[in-house]
Amino acid sequence: MTVHQNFIGGEWVAAANAAPNVNPSDLSDTVGEYARASRADAEAAIAAAKAAFPAWSRTSPHLRYEALKRISDEILARKEELGRLLAREEGKTLADGIGEATRAGQVFAYFAGEAVRMAGEKFASTRPGVEVDVTREAVGVVAMITPWNFPIAIPAWKIAPALAYGNCVVIKPADLVPGSAWALADIIARSGIPAGVFNLVMGRGSEIGDVLLGHDDVAAISFTGSVATGRKIAQAAVTAPVMKKVQMEMGGKSPLVVLDDADLGVAVECAANGAFHQTGQRCTAGTRLIVTEKIHDRFVDGLTERMKALVVDHALKPGTHIGPVVDDNQLEQDLRYIAIGQKEGATLHWGGERLNRDTQGFYLQPALFVGCRNDMQIAREEIFGPVAAVIRVKDYEEALTVANDTAFGLSSGICTTSLKHATHFKRNSDAGMVNVNLPTAGVDYHVPFGGRKGSSYGPREQGHYAIEFYTTVKTSYTLA
Ligand code: NAD
Repeated sequence: MTVHQNFIGGEWVAAANAAPNVNPSDLSDTVGEYARASRADAEAAIAAAKAAFPAWSRTSPHLRYEALKRISDEILARKEELGRLLAREEGKTLADGIGEATRAGQVFAYFAGEAVRMAGEKFASTRPGVEVDVTREAVGVVAMITPWNFPIAIPAWKIAPALAYGNCVVIKPADLVPGSAWALADIIARSGIPAGVFNLVMGRGSEIGDVLLGHDDVAAISFTGSVATGRKIAQAAVTAPVMKKVQMEMGGKSPLVVLDDADLGVAVECAANGAFHQTGQRCTAGTRLIVTEKIHDRFVDGLTERMKALVVDHALKPGTHIGPVVDDNQLEQDLRYIAIGQKEGATLHWGGERLNRDTQGFYLQPALFVGCRNDMQIAREEIFGPVAAVIRVKDYEEALTVANDTAFGLSSGICTTSLKHATHFKRNSDAGMVNVNLPTAGVDYHVPFGGRKGSSYGPREQGHYAIEFYTTVKTSYTLA
């Protein structure tokens, strides 16, 4: 099997080590062998990016527009193939894989346009005869560290704005799913951008992470992943000899409030989709279901029926709603939390069984706990699997208090037909993204993405707001 190599300084570079990328739906299927970069590879990538930066940051925005547009066009033209690769390596369904590849293409198209929309401001000076300009410039070399659960969309929504605004990139995708990032790198490599502007180093964070985090020539770090890794990154960014700009998107434990006046069908659909789709492996998953008394039993019955109809099977099989858990570690974590929930006194109402299918994979039935309190571990900690906890509350006021009583603040949702409660919730929910009669997971690409409290740190990603992180502001004074 040929090894997929790292991309450094415009060349595909062989590495001393490689690892197999295994399909979680079928452990006998190896998606490919992927290089694991050494520390020297990571250093070479940073050096290449540094060397490319002066010219790239001063290119015509139109050239950057053209390169990004070409990348977008190829992703969209190959979205079925890329979606299949994604579903095969990560375990989300083929439809979700194609949807994610499509999103990556849309993100590049959006930021192609942003490249030519970069603008500044002119101010009147407080001093006579002086003019003040405020302009934006690229930051420099941006290191990117991405998680396994959105293997093409997250790299896309970091790489596209970085390139659009004139930065150079060194990206390290999650070791578990390098295939989609490699395919994206292959497309970027053919887009006409100069050598060194974009670099891919695959491998383990524990092995090459500190090179990216501590290097004097890295100006900024964009990270998405767990809170535990995020803390290390933030510390490294500010203790490095040259402090770095840092942007971090981390975990979640999103609440979905269901009020007595909710449309039951809408509420059940929001809960089933938000908590269990993509195997619950979404940072925005709505896994705390906070339900008022009068609708509680009907909601639990409806959701249980809905769960029974969800087909858990091979990600590429037609008819599958939920693919496997991504790997044995994550499966072990999911099962551990299911045991913890029972030990804490919550009732495992339905699901939570390990499943066997035609192929050997990490299949898990979605699990619904009822009788949960918000101080239980299963209601406070991110499980990152298809496990949801129903918390019964008296009324809207208690629901809002419970919803906000969390260390996280990425996304939240409410199902209600009351304009008063929907409006109050939008204003008072302590989350970066709020959904009314929609699942907590599901976002657009042209508006900011991010959260509060333990979920996020630093400027927002996506949409025009991405400019905050990927540019730095310069104030110039001229005596006219
Ligand atoms: P993770 O923190 O284990 O790994 C994320 C990335 O960090 C990987 O590329 C990994 O190799 C790297 N890494 C690990 N240790 C490192 C170190 N010491 N130095 C540098 N890099 C290091 O997270 P994961 O398991 O890949 O992803 C799941 C987590 O990501 C969940 O907590 C989920 O909520 C979060 N996530 C958040 C968002 C968001 O936008 N808020 C989106 C997707 C996933």
